[in-house]
Amino acid sequence: MKKIALHWQIIIGLFLGLIYGFISTNLGWGSFTTNWIAPFGTIFINLLKLIAMPLVLASLITGVASLSDVKKLSRIGGKTISIYIGTTALAVTIGLISVNILKPGDKIPIEMKEKLQTLYEKDAENKASSVHKVKNRGPLQPIVDMVPNNFFNSASNNRNMLQVVFVAILIGVGLIQIPKKNSKPLKLFFKSLSDVVIKLVDIIMLIAPIGVFALISQTINKVAGDNPSQVLELLGALGFYMFSVILGLIIHVIITYMGMMRFFTKMKVQTFFKGLAPAQLLAFSTSSSGATLPVTMERCEEKLGVSEEVSSFVLPLGATINMDGTALYQAVAAVFIAQTLNMSLDISAQITIVLTTVLASIGTAAVPGAGIVMLVIILESVGVPSEGIAIILGVDRILDMMRTTVNVTGDATVSIIISESEDQINTPII
Ligand code: ASP
Repeated sequence: MKKIALHWQIIIGLFLGLIYGFISTNLGWGSFTTNWIAPFGTIFINLLKLIAMPLVLASLITGVASLSDVKKLSRIGGKTISIYIGTTALAVTIGLISVNILKPGDKIPIEMKEKLQTLYEKDAENKASSVHKVKNRGPLQPIVDMVPNNFFNSASNNRNMLQVVFVAILIGVGLIQIPKKNSKPLKLFFKSLSDVVIKLVDIIMLIAPIGVFALISQTINKVAGDNPSQVLELLGALGFYMFSVILGLIIHVIITYMGMMRFFTKMKVQTFFKGLAPAQLLAFSTSSSGATLPVTMERCEEKLGVSEEVSSFVLPLGATINMDGTALYQAVAAVFIAQTLNMSLDISAQITIVLTTVLASIGTAAVPGAGIVMLVIILESVGVPSEGIAIILGVDRILDMMRTTVNVTGDATVSIIISESEDQINTPII
């Protein structure tokens, strides 16, 4: 019997999870789902997170050390970072155009605004207070935060990925500069570690359909609780806001990514989506581009023909700093909240949103719900009260799933473009 392709297996898991989730919330099986279904999702996502940090470290060190000299590193690094920042700025612009034309905030009835505010007030306070520390810091603090004073501290927390990226690049640069015979053992060690981790991805993905089933069931369980009618009401009220975000995301994928792919590479759109689908579905179900990274790397290298040298540098960096989906969502959310609170944002406020959002998305951790925490900073930068996030909290998880999928798609697109520009692309195996 022909084996069902991995992405189909995951899609089946996802649909069954959706169906089960809806049935279980309707029948009030919330605690059964939490106790007996959700743990499989947690095990699956923990396995992915477990390998994310060693993978970033080993593959980035290998990637940087395999570049023959620092000149090549700065060339590839310069190109990668410029494309990452450029596409993020474009994403924010598309988001702003979408929200300014559709004006979803003007369509919310006053009673609904008040209801949402009170319903999510507590949660919003928690989010806002977790960002309080971030707000009161100097302008250069994000750069200071990138440089750890103890590597083991950084490596012990997946949220510190940016610090690990920094250390890995440093070690890679050091390896390029010492004599070959001294660098060889360490290079081999990290190469072998990254090969092992990539192999583990195959093993972990064997349980992906079950993991995805459990994750989706639990997400529905958490969003809806045992009161699905409340979710329908929420979706009704915030439907137009969600539409503005989703429309922006789709336009960004079609115009920016597919456009770039067409102009700068020979890759066919179907090949790209077929090859990347398992990573995208995983991003959708886990809402974490960090946890998805091992699969993104495996698919880009083994299916889409991106060279190991490029993928091991571009993808870990992208998972940490390139979040186009998040940035687009943050821009729409900021303006939407302002519209709901009847505050108008002039052109200079909108330009401030572009700048702060590009920076905030770089600093957003690749984990579920990180984007809404950073949104607080963007709101503050244009004088919109951060308590406003209470209005959108109820549907945030759904949008998180969508924006994370776009984040991962963006990283993969850039890795193909860089690989092609370096003449290092192999024939895709799909
Ligand atoms: N969940 C997103 C990611 O991991 C970040 C966010 O926007 O919350 O890419």
